Amino acid sequence: MAELEKLAMYVNGGRVEPVSGEYFESFNPFTGKPWAMVGRGGEADANRAVEAAKSALENPEWRDLNATQRGHLLRRLGDLAAEHSERLGALEVKDNGKLIAEMGMQCQYLPQWYYYFAGLADKIEGAVLPIDKPATFTYTLQEPLGVCALITPWNSPLLLLAWKLAPALAAGNTVVVKPSEFTSASTLAFADLVEEAGFPKGVFNVITGFGKEVGEPLVVHPDVAKVAFTGGVLSGSHVYQQAAAGLKKVGLELGGKSPNIVFDDCNMENAVKGAISGIFAATGQTCIAGSRLLVQKSIHDEFVEKLVDFAKTAKIGDPMANETQVGPVTTMPQYEKILSYMDVAREDGAECLLGGGKAELPECGDGWFVQPTIFAGVNNKMRIAQEEVFGPVLSIIPFGDEDEAVAIANDVLYGLASGIWTSDIRRAIEIPKLIKSGTVWVNMYRAVSYVAPFGGYKQSGLGRESGQQAIQEYQQTKTVWISTAAETPNPFVMG
Ligand code: NAD
Repeated sequence: MAELEKLAMYVNGGRVEPVSGEYFESFNPFTGKPWAMVGRGGEADANRAVEAAKSALENPEWRDLNATQRGHLLRRLGDLAAEHSERLGALEVKDNGKLIAEMGMQCQYLPQWYYYFAGLADKIEGAVLPIDKPATFTYTLQEPLGVCALITPWNSPLLLLAWKLAPALAAGNTVVVKPSEFTSASTLAFADLVEEAGFPKGVFNVITGFGKEVGEPLVVHPDVAKVAFTGGVLSGSHVYQQAAAGLKKVGLELGGKSPNIVFDDCNMENAVKGAISGIFAATGQTCIAGSRLLVQKSIHDEFVEKLVDFAKTAKIGDPMANETQVGPVTTMPQYEKILSYMDVAREDGAECLLGGGKAELPECGDGWFVQPTIFAGVNNKMRIAQEEVFGPVLSIIPFGDEDEAVAIANDVLYGLASGIWTSDIRRAIEIPKLIKSGTVWVNMYRAVSYVAPFGGYKQSGLGRESGQQAIQEYQQTKTVWISTAAETPNPFVMG
């Protein structure tokens, strides 16, 4: 067998071997076979990258750029990302198995984050304060935090990187990126574009490997000022505690168990499509998956029948084929986890209306495929209704009236997203106020934008990405006091 390509890390403007010299395999979920080797980083790799990012902060080529110039660099990076979007999208499919239809579109869209934050770079302003003291001039400066650790998951590597990287660089920080061990290739390829855009060396670094081995030393490194993390709740909570010991700033984008609520006055055809896109798009591997479908009892049976009929038509297969609608699961542990949740649902008494196991079709080859699955008769106390499966497994929960729908929707530890399907304008406006989630979609599902803040209520996270607010998460405020008094007042009394 031909030797697999080795993907080196990117530190201080150049490609570097892992300090240990060790590599591990990156798998293609469609073939079930390894296709590249990724550097297995450890503490020494984290230290080396943080050191590079720390000295880049003091490098006049970066430190002394004005905000407009930082914006120019980001805009150039956006242009390069657009130029290479097709190649980057295909690279992501090789690693995470999501549909080229989705990853291609995502990679075409992600330059917008670089353009948006390029535009915001020179809108960061301090203020002259109307201070209440005589002979005093007081103003604020908005400054970068320093070295930021950006830790990303496997489901949308470059998009979720853009959400962090664009505001971090726009605000003048330097970064060390740690992509998921399952999908490092696209982030490593992106490093070439950052370099070509003209960012000084050390501003952007990528280290690869496992969370415990290289992620954790990065999080606890004393020279890391902020940790921006997207991933699961357990690792997020662990990262939060580790970062807390060093009193670091932390941003967390975690999991979800989002309710998609179908009222009896909805447009049924649209709501069926919304339910499908909520759970089967991306093979259910999205943090915003509408995995709990709450359906009003008065239309329950009719709606569920239409939904199952539609779901049956989903084409499973090669994620690179344009007609495929459901691709493989990204990782082997995730594949096993999804199958085990199907058993849990059955054991807890849910009724399986569709799927419920491995998908073993000829078009699935040796890939890690599960069937699009629908469980009815779920009650919200069941594990299948409370725990994130991160796969194409839908739980249908019936409800009677609005109050019950809202109570069920909120009765979960998460609060990332939610959907509402109704043609009643009062419901469309009033129900979003009652739902405890960072995003609420009405008569639509799964839209995101660089303009719209995104983040979690409750255990779904801390802080917001995208939108103007996001850039504030990468700054700190300094207050400067200048006396214009001819004489210093009484030194024993505070002014
Ligand atoms: P994960 O938590 O296993 O890993 C995420 C990243 O954290 C990886 O790079 C991993 O190596 C790293 N990591 C793990 N343990 C670490 C540690 N102790 N210290 C430092 N780094 C560590 O998550 P995953 O399986 O890659 O992704 C799936 C999860 O991500 C799901 O729960 C999903 O809901 C969540 N997610 C959330 C959002 C969002 O925006 N809220 C978006 C996508 C995915």
